[in-house]
Amino acid sequence: MKRLVTVSLLFCSGLFVFAQQQKPKLVIGIVVDQMRYDYLDRYWNKFGNDGFKKIINNGFNCKNTHYNYMPTYTGPGHASIYTGTTPENNGIIANDWYDKKNKKMVYCAEDVTVKTIGSESAAGLMSPKNMITTTITDQLKLNTNFKGKVIGISLKDRGAILPAGHKADAAYWFEGGDTGKWISSSYYFNELPKWVNEVNKKNSANTFLNSPWNTLLPIAEYTESIADNNTYEGTFSTEKTPTFPHHLPALRDSNDNYSLIKSTPFGNNITTEMALAALVAENLGEDEITDFLAISYSSPDYIGHQFGPMSVEVEDTYLRLDKDLATLFAFLETKFKKDELLLFITADHGAVDVPQYLIDNHIPAGYFNKLKMTTDLKAFCLTKWKVDLVENISNGNVFLNHEIITKNGFNTSQIEQEIANYLLTFEGVSQTFTATTLKTTIITENIAANIQRGFNQSRSGDVIYVLASGWINAGYKTGTTHGSPYRYDTHVPLLWYGYQIPTGATADKIIIPDIAATIAILLNINAPSACTGKPIKELIK
Ligand SMILES: [Zn+2]
Repeated sequence: MKRLVTVSLLFCSGLFVFAQQQKPKLVIGIVVDQMRYDYLDRYWNKFGNDGFKKIINNGFNCKNTHYNYMPTYTGPGHASIYTGTTPENNGIIANDWYDKKNKKMVYCAEDVTVKTIGSESAAGLMSPKNMITTTITDQLKLNTNFKGKVIGISLKDRGAILPAGHKADAAYWFEGGDTGKWISSSYYFNELPKWVNEVNKKNSANTFLNSPWNTLLPIAEYTESIADNNTYEGTFSTEKTPTFPHHLPALRDSNDNYSLIKSTPFGNNITTEMALAALVAENLGEDEITDFLAISYSSPDYIGHQFGPMSVEVEDTYLRLDKDLATLFAFLETKFKKDELLLFITADHGAVDVPQYLIDNHIPAGYFNKLKMTTDLKAFCLTKWKVDLVENISNGNVFLNHEIITKNGFNTSQIEQEIANYLLTFEGVSQTFTATTLKTTIITENIAANIQRGFNQSRSGDVIYVLASGWINAGYKTGTTHGSPYRYDTHVPLLWYGYQIPTGATADKIIIPDIAATIAILLNINAPSACTGKPIKELIK
């Protein structure tokens, strides 16, 4: 049989490709929330051989992979990976955005028409309905006549729901507070499967929270980070200093009980436990029809926000995550040959170093006073047009009141331009764009193109402003955030392993939408409906 294949490959390679039926039995997508690319290098010498290193040494490393839009937030990031396009098309323009039609904020995964499954709270009123184009997981469903299983798992609802797509078998997320359970929504089913109840009954979160968070290695070995006690890090509520050991049992009461686990590396442990339980109980990858498990590790994001990229806490989180990945990969190896599995690891955005840390080290950064800008802009409108035209400012979008504009017969594009010019007078604002420009001019290069790819004509605002490099909104006195179009927020890991994946690396620029485009070619299925990515050429030879 082997010789026959070789012969046909030699003489009729085109036919061979079409004749072959083999596809991976299972695709595993792993998103690490807020993982910057440079962490791979920074912590490399401390990683074991069976986690990140195993994938890099035996798979393919796309070293120069970037988000190609603003805002680089969690909801848009997960949506972009799986829809193979950007907010311009998939509609996920932020985590929460201002809904122009209903004049209220809307959450990216909210859906008031469904019910929570597994809890009495509103934490399950969620679905992917706000994501308006298909995902690679939807395409797998369509291609397999809905026989390929698709499951999403993440502490965050949006990290589970958006990747799993519109026709998923399930998405599970973790409810904190006093619940401490994996829950879901009636969008998928009316009761939790038995195996999920069993995972919940085991209540591993409780076990983890009953011990302190100590460093994995002796703390003196955390040489890639700044001193454990520093002024750039946030503490847990009621904690005196942001230092190890973090006494989790004593902190539970003042930090919303089970929610505390989200901001510790043990949030990754329970996510891995849930993923392994799903693999076994749902028989993922057991038959010839490709299944898809989308895992998102949310804890690195919570920890990154609180402590910042230079903290011992973040370093410890990645050393521990490396062990989680090793556990997951070891399990997969017992069930699948390398070419029966297609696996990728990426992140939903990066993060900026704590701006005060940058400022103290003479690196451009700052804290933007959005409150002052809002007050001043409203005053500017009153002076200029005798009426407050500003309806909402969120995610760098200024939403104008179009009823007032129409009623007064104002010229919309002229108002947009005057406001855009005015916003440029604020320290910390580096660029502004009007909706009129973004709707009428195709921008192909630079940060401006990222703004356009993050701009959804029916959902976005009337004037978009971009903060300068290193700047974030004031209010974060400690810790950091993300959301910008700059490299620290756009550059993320992209690692591939398994089915038809060669060993190697590229420094060619890859954009996040290329992920779904590549999976579509590898699985021989249609790309997502609005996919704007291109297959990564090294992976589809
Ligand atoms: Zn995120």
